[in-house]
Amino acid sequence: MHRGGARGPRGSLGGRLIGTRTAWTTVCDGEFFCPGCGGDRNYQRRTGRRRFVFLGVPLLARGEAGPVVECAACQDHFGLDTLDHPTTVRLSTMLRDAVHTVVIAVLTTGGTTSRAALDAAVATLHGAGFDDCTEERLTALVDALAADTSSTDVPDCVPGLAIELHEALGPLTPHLAPAGREALLLQGARIALADGPYTPAERDVLATAGCALTIDPDDVARLLVAATRTPS
Ligand SMILES: [Zn+2]
Repeated sequence: MHRGGARGPRGSLGGRLIGTRTAWTTVCDGEFFCPGCGGDRNYQRRTGRRRFVFLGVPLLARGEAGPVVECAACQDHFGLDTLDHPTTVRLSTMLRDAVHTVVIAVLTTGGTTSRAALDAAVATLHGAGFDDCTEERLTALVDALAADTSSTDVPDCVPGLAIELHEALGPLTPHLAPAGREALLLQGARIALADGPYTPAERDVLATAGCALTIDPDDVARLLVAATRTPS
């Protein structure tokens, strides 16, 4: 794409002095991931008015242009759908939160009573960037969640977990490659396996996570078996 200015099929102002000029107006700005120069950049959302130009003089109005998203760095123009993609900063936050939610979900099935599961959970959270995570904090958090769930007279905590998992994973999933979605599920599976074979509750949680990650149920089953053969 090109910067706004004189251009058109019939020549530019620098050439035959005939063409279409677009005057751009900034509507708002923000930060986005620029698909042109490949990074988090500032953008301006702009609309334009096209005018036919003859001998450098704007003449007839030729209608509206845009709206477009203009990158402050490379100054290319993109469609508004570009703003649907999260910035890399936002994406990494979503990914961290997703790992956290999956880990907590697996632990709420009873994992805090197992030293091995807690160790695996803390290691996974450290790997995801939660540097200040400790076994004590994790246990306290899971216990608080369990107490919270039981106080709402819900005998089974899985429906609440399902909502949590879908909320944390749903917005992230469209931006992850299949391997990235599978990696998230496998992180949960390895914590579940740290203290022995999957329990029915762990299988339920992992199946729900797989569903939220839009992984086919058959693939979830295959991945859960694969995780038993390839310990982290
Ligand atoms: Zn750019």
